Amino acid sequence: MKPLLPLEEAQQRLIAMAQPLPSESVPIADALGRYLTKNLITKRSQPATDMSAMDGYAIRFDDRAGPWQVVGECKAGSPPCPPIETGQAARIFTGALLPDGADTVVMQENVERDDIMIKLISDPSPVKGRHVRHQGGDFKTGEIALKAGTYLNAAALGHAVIAGLGSLSVGRCPKVAILSTGDELVLPGIETKPHQIPASNDVMVSAMLSQLPAQTRSISRIKDDLDSLCQALESAKDCDVIVTIGGASVGDHDLVAPAFKQLGGETDFWKIAMKPGKPLMAGKLGNSLVLALPGNPGSAFVTATLFLLPLIRYLAGAANYLPAMQSAITNTVLPATTQRAEFLRATVDGSGITPFNSQDSAKLSVLAAANALLYRPAHSPEQQKGAEVSYISI
Ligand code: AMP
Ligand code: MG
Repeated sequence: MKPLLPLEEAQQRLIAMAQPLPSESVPIADALGRYLTKNLITKRSQPATDMSAMDGYAIRFDDRAGPWQVVGECKAGSPPCPPIETGQAARIFTGALLPDGADTVVMQENVERDDIMIKLISDPSPVKGRHVRHQGGDFKTGEIALKAGTYLNAAALGHAVIAGLGSLSVGRCPKVAILSTGDELVLPGIETKPHQIPASNDVMVSAMLSQLPAQTRSISRIKDDLDSLCQALESAKDCDVIVTIGGASVGDHDLVAPAFKQLGGETDFWKIAMKPGKPLMAGKLGNSLVLALPGNPGSAFVTATLFLLPLIRYLAGAANYLPAMQSAITNTVLPATTQRAEFLRATVDGSGITPFNSQDSAKLSVLAAANALLYRPAHSPEQQKGAEVSYISI
């Protein structure tokens, strides 16, 4: 049997064909889900100066025994209140600046107040610097807050704001055309004749891309004839990525490769050592990267997970673009694999991971019931129940 291109090599070759897209500056509020293209350097220290972490009283630690006379009130958002001397305390609230002279905060629950005087009512006695957030304790001006290539989630956006930024440099969103092919395909929700099926992959692949920074255009249900395919590919040449679904095998009606070649497309690889997903093809048409996914829904989903989504993340500026692998204990014996890496539709929970008995890639019922792709590398020996295996959450 002719050796097929190993999975990792195919992934590397696809990425090698691509280049991250240029950066653009966007307001932080619009940067969710994008990838940072430059290291984010803090423009301020946090906290800018020592402040209270509690509601209570600011004192001098050297003067920790008390009692104290309350001489001022410090609250968040106000300039510092007047300095305190020995024998004095300032009423203070969370987020307020510590007055000069104070270095420690005593919680309000630990003192008793009588008019302008307070005294300690409980042990332990104050600890130096307690309940104080120190200047620069979170970060200091000029530090790297987030590295280039970071995925901007909600917490990262919060970090960028507190670091003093108002806009961020992120990778441009790739423009992606999704072309589905097949005479049998009809629009969703339309009553089908026995020779027809609803075009489910179009919605599924668009949904997968909607979780990433990508502008998608759907060119749905192209007829299985060379002219229609050539026209559709031609009309998508302004896109960074053209992803075709179906028609990628070698049957008489699998016309993606012939159409691609007729237009002068250059194939980088076709047919990889992977199950499902063997007929995957990648190449270039003009300035567009073309990825041809097989039509069976299970194959389309697995190849999109392992190739299309990583490619989009990479183009959009991601440092970590491959799917995250996790590990679990297998609940079943897993047969040895051949030269093809396998991705078994499976369920994972606290008990471990269980592949479905049927791995028919045409079955959407199996794919939809799965929450994991169990990864079996090429040339793996049989695995016993209880062995640790890798999987991708889906
Ligand atoms: P193909 O790769 O074109 O030979 O298609 C393989 C199988 O996937 C066939 O049974 C097709 O009907 C089915 N298929 C292809 N494209 C789609 C699509 N967009 N939605 C659902 N099923 C599809
Ligand atoms: Mg077809």
